[in-house]
Amino acid sequence: MTVQDIAQDYLSTGKLEALPEGHFIDGKVTRPSDRKMESFDPGRAEAFAEFSLGEDADMDLAIASAEKASRHWRHVTPGERCRILNNVARLFRENADRLSVIEVVDSGKTLAEAQGDVQSSARLFEYYAGAADKLDGRSVNLGPDYTAFTVREPVGVTGHIIPWNYPISTFARGVAPALAAGCAVVAKPAETTPFTALVMAELLCVAGVPEGLVNVVTGLGADVGAQMARDPRIKQLTFTGSVSTGINVAQMAAPNVTRLTLELGGKSPLIAFGDADPEKVADGAYWAIFSNSGQICSAGSRLILHKAIRDDVLAILAERAKAIRPAHGLTAPDMGAINSELHLGRIKAHVDAAKSRGAHLLTGGDVTVDSHTGKGWFFQPTVIADLAADDPAVQDEIFGPVLSVQNFETEEEAVQLANGTEFGLIASVYTRDVGRAMRVASAMDCGQVSINDYWAGGLELPFGGNKKSGYGREKGWEGLDAYTKVKSITISNAS
Ligand code: NAD
Repeated sequence: MTVQDIAQDYLSTGKLEALPEGHFIDGKVTRPSDRKMESFDPGRAEAFAEFSLGEDADMDLAIASAEKASRHWRHVTPGERCRILNNVARLFRENADRLSVIEVVDSGKTLAEAQGDVQSSARLFEYYAGAADKLDGRSVNLGPDYTAFTVREPVGVTGHIIPWNYPISTFARGVAPALAAGCAVVAKPAETTPFTALVMAELLCVAGVPEGLVNVVTGLGADVGAQMARDPRIKQLTFTGSVSTGINVAQMAAPNVTRLTLELGGKSPLIAFGDADPEKVADGAYWAIFSNSGQICSAGSRLILHKAIRDDVLAILAERAKAIRPAHGLTAPDMGAINSELHLGRIKAHVDAAKSRGAHLLTGGDVTVDSHTGKGWFFQPTVIADLAADDPAVQDEIFGPVLSVQNFETEEEAVQLANGTEFGLIASVYTRDVGRAMRVASAMDCGQVSINDYWAGGLELPFGGNKKSGYGREKGWEGLDAYTKVKSITISNAS
């Protein structure tokens, strides 16, 4: 079956074949529990399947199973770990069609976006397969009386709390380095996107990951997520989601002094100077905010424009935004859906509040539907111009296709505006002046900066935030740090 066949089958039946309804614990899908929850297709605003709501006993079993399997896995040779992780990458690619369609139906994104997520997840497994046999320590020179060196040891059982905007790739970016480092995994996907983590866990086992090493428990964050955060057997917790839940998770993990990686929100700026090409800036800003319907922690949700190019950039951008046709992700639309009715309501509330403050909307500003079906949870691509630095549309993460535009005259002003929120995830600078680009890049209080391109970079580079965008880094070589502990060993050379 081609991906179009699978998509067509879903669009005509409203059902997806063979979705796991239980948890994935100790190498198998468990019997579906009596407590279930419906999962919705955001592109149709209709339920398409049910999944199990995990309880204490499920999480307890998953952590116990991971703990048992980790005792064996930490001693598996690095070369063998490398071989298995490469198998995972191959299996993800072989199953890309099914995984992508499930992701579209569960999350609301477009098929092209989901296919990209599967490919980048396969690459993450390849990248960390290559790291598994290169996790060396270093030798340290203490003079002739001692021989000293460091080793990197696996931390043990790791917990992964996953959001709904990138279910496949957030799972992969935590699980791949954890396994490469010799750790075990318990993952909890978001309650609106439970399925791809279960399917990926099954594929991991087929690829040769030992039973029990990777477990997935579906259910509510406040139940099984909180239980995971509080459990002393979890030695590293990797959380991606909102700032408020991240703080809550940090507080729950604190009594056990659990290691923590927090990947929280953002309000990332694209700064464009007067010497930048307006076409190129408008194109960068378009993809920065409208990819994945703006539901990206690192979305370019603020456009900070030099007054000399403001009119040109906004004219191009508004015209392109007006032409976007949002529709069900399986029908090749320009933009997909908003993940849940709850989140659609949050976006609308932000934009309604801006309108009531008299905001200058260049386009968009309201909820909409798939024009073919009259259904679904969609928000119009929205551009709000000429905002003051303290406007809530500049300060708050809206997490939707809503771009807030600010204007500036001097470099100092641009830097001040760009750093002027409580977030610090990514930033982008458009200018032909290399010196200025480097000055501004170094002045940015954030985890990554791209110059003359918004989505520059890749999984080989570390990714993470400053300020309330979180701490710790994922992806790249630094992504392994969370999953290893460094031990120093010193030998006396005395006879
Ligand atoms: P959330 O932070 O509540 O959910 C993220 C994950 O945390 C989910 O798996 C959820 O089940 C889990 N969770 C929720 N409560 C928990 C608890 N008490 N203990 C442990 N785990 C818990 O996010 P949300 O409410 O779904 O989305 C709200 C906002 O979060 C969005 O508007 C957006 O600003 C932000 N967000 C950011 C990202 C990101 O990539 N940084 C992703 C999704 C959402």
